[in-house]
Amino acid sequence: MPASSPLPCVFCDIVRGENPHEIIYEDSEFLGFLDKYPLNAGHTQLIPKHHYRWVWDMDKADLGFLFMKVQRIAKALQNVFETDWIIADTGGIGVPHAHVHLVPRFEDDGHGELPDPKILREIPESEMVEIARKIRAELERAPG
Ligand SMILES: [Zn+2]
Repeated sequence: MPASSPLPCVFCDIVRGENPHEIIYEDSEFLGFLDKYPLNAGHTQLIPKHHYRWVWDMDKADLGFLFMKVQRIAKALQNVFETDWIIADTGGIGVPHAHVHLVPRFEDDGHGELPDPKILREIPESEMVEIARKIRAELERAPG
């Protein structure tokens, strides 16, 4: 499968390594990385490496694999951030490449039932590096 889009696409750039992000998960088909504009610490994007406009464009098997990865990453985020509450949603307006946001949630985080896109966390780069390291370590500790 080609891993790039003929159109400019920020997420295809990340897949090609042209737009460095803190990677928390990678296999031959999928890439997980920390969002640079996090709604909360640990806000992760999971994407198929192949360019699909929407997750709903993926074939059923690939969509199933995507959500198996979502579950695995959600469980890692639960452990790293000591919260059961992990939001997963399929966006698609901000970047036109299929993706799933995973956002750790906390009772006092200021968001409503769904995350408020106007509430963004300023997390120093060194802390983003450490968050990514912890998530990768948790994924290695509990392979799914
Ligand atoms: Zn793309």
